[in-house]
Amino acid sequence: MSVDKETFVILKDSVTRFVRERLMPAEDTVEEHDVVPDDIVSDMKELGLFGLSIPDEYGGIGLTMAQECEIAFELGQTALAFRSVIGTNVGIGSQGILMDGTEEQKRTYLSRIASGDLIVSFALTEPDSGSDAASIKTRAEKVGDDYVLTGSKRFITNAPRAGAFTLMARTDGPGPGGISAFIVPADLPGISLGKPDQKMGQRGTKTCDVLLDQVRVPSGNVIGGTPGHGFKTAMKVLDRGRLHVSALACGMARRILDESIAYAKQRRQFGQRIGDFQLVQAMLADSQAELIAGWSMVQSVARRYDKKPTGTFDANVSMEASCAKMFTTEMVGRVADRGVQVHGGAGYINEYKVERFYRDVRLLRLYEGTTQIQQLVIGRHLMNAA
Ligand SMILES: Cc1cc2nc3c(=O)[nH]c(=O)nc-3n(C[C@H](O)[C@H](O)[C@H](O)COP(=O)(O)OP(=O)(O)OC[C@H]3O[C@@H](n4cnc5c(N)ncnc54)[C@H](O)[C@@H]3O)c2cc1C
Repeated sequence: MSVDKETFVILKDSVTRFVRERLMPAEDTVEEHDVVPDDIVSDMKELGLFGLSIPDEYGGIGLTMAQECEIAFELGQTALAFRSVIGTNVGIGSQGILMDGTEEQKRTYLSRIASGDLIVSFALTEPDSGSDAASIKTRAEKVGDDYVLTGSKRFITNAPRAGAFTLMARTDGPGPGGISAFIVPADLPGISLGKPDQKMGQRGTKTCDVLLDQVRVPSGNVIGGTPGHGFKTAMKVLDRGRLHVSALACGMARRILDESIAYAKQRRQFGQRIGDFQLVQAMLADSQAELIAGWSMVQSVARRYDKKPTGTFDANVSMEASCAKMFTTEMVGRVADRGVQVHGGAGYINEYKVERFYRDVRLLRLYEGTTQIQQLVIGRHLMNAA
């Protein structure tokens, strides 16, 4: 699945212009009102952004991972709330269906996900189960032709706008083998949402708890049709998502660096531009070098990801995706910190963009596997390798 080079160049140009001309000017509105305006969401639909990763036979654009990372890099250069609107449809919400779903499940859901008419969230985390995802407690009991789901899911991105969830629940005993992935329409009786989470940053993104009380889900909604594969599906989805998040981190590092360079050129102290002081240049140089290192890593791992058969697991690529996620999300944290420093006191004031980007990027080191979980994936792989 891929688009030809010429079509991709046109798409990338359109996204670059969209980011600069449409999204950047709306950043303050999103920060102030904590919502991405509907007309921007409509424009995102028109551009095809909800279907970036879904093959054209199911109504999407069908980008390779390397191409998707380039688009994520562009989208990363503006407030991350915009990307979050499409994020679950492009990544963690849709990919389980695409990788492991039956043909009927793909035909039923993917085209509506690709068009953005159906928002789909990924529901794995629970109050007592975050990093230890194999310990989820949400139960799915087989009753006749249905499963009855009871439990609660925590911090679910886009849940308030979701029409469906790809949701992991326990159909069998303890451990990863007892987990199945379900497609759960959001309007089923017994589903309710918690209050919206008040977050440190990324204003305009929407997360909340999803509560399930005796929710009857047809057994035909088990992803792939066979129970017991949900944990593997979730891990494959997260591997892929880690590369997307890495590209996003690099895009945001680019933006923070651009803001910092612009400020260093116009702010004067001691009779000269602060950017002419070598100590300020050192901060810019460190950020530039780390950005190149991170972005090179993302591109190279994404190309390797594209070489493996679609939907399969490759331990080497998985380890490298964890390296990319760990390095780039930590890197953008350091770039944001230097960005604030270059701005001096202004860096602490909300009117200047680096203050909010500093808060926004903090999340990237937490979700889709914390930095410590990436270290565990990498370390375990190294110890087990022949
Ligand atoms: C804004 C936001 C959006 C999110 N969106 C989604 C979503 O859409 N869907 C979804 O399912 N989840 C989502 N999450 C949940 C997110 O993936 C989890 O918060 C994350 O995986 C960490 O889990 P936790 O919060 O339970 O932390 P914990 O697992 O409790 O971790 C706490 C600390 O302990 C460390 N730790 C844990 N285990 C180990 C270990 N074995 N070794 C060393 N250190 C360890 C962690 O690294 C961390 O520093 C979201 C979270 C946030 C904040």
